Amino acid sequence: MISNPKNQTTMMLKIEHIGIAVKNLEDSNTLFAKIFNAPHYKMEGVESEGVMTSFFQVGENKIELLEATNPESPIAKFIEKKGEGIHHIAFDVADIRAEMKRLEEEGFILLNKEPKNGADNKLVCFLHPKGTNGVLIELCQEK
Ligand code: ZN
Repeated sequence: MISNPKNQTTMMLKIEHIGIAVKNLEDSNTLFAKIFNAPHYKMEGVESEGVMTSFFQVGENKIELLEATNPESPIAKFIEKKGEGIHHIAFDVADIRAEMKRLEEEGFILLNKEPKNGADNKLVCFLHPKGTNGVLIELCQEK
């Protein structure tokens, strides 16, 4: 592991999952089950975000499919602009508040100032993709 001389307590641990925006979760569950040769292991709605999600386990990795549940959902807007596809990369962090503080001090724009409840029993925070080469980055910490 690469050491982090700046601060040992704030670091990203691994990619937690990759989020994929889809138009129809039922169709995509069938499609990705064929790709992975295994069904999704759970579905969960996040009402505050206007999304329904499903999760697939692929070895050590997870894939999250996201479908909008209303037209104002960030997923609906993403699909409108860019079409279906990779929406975000989520990184597991040991201490989400410390990581948010560190990144804010580095000049990154946090889309939420306080960690919020995400799917899969996580506290989450997103970084604005304008400051990250267009990649929407999610920080997540197991609750
Ligand atoms: Zn996610």
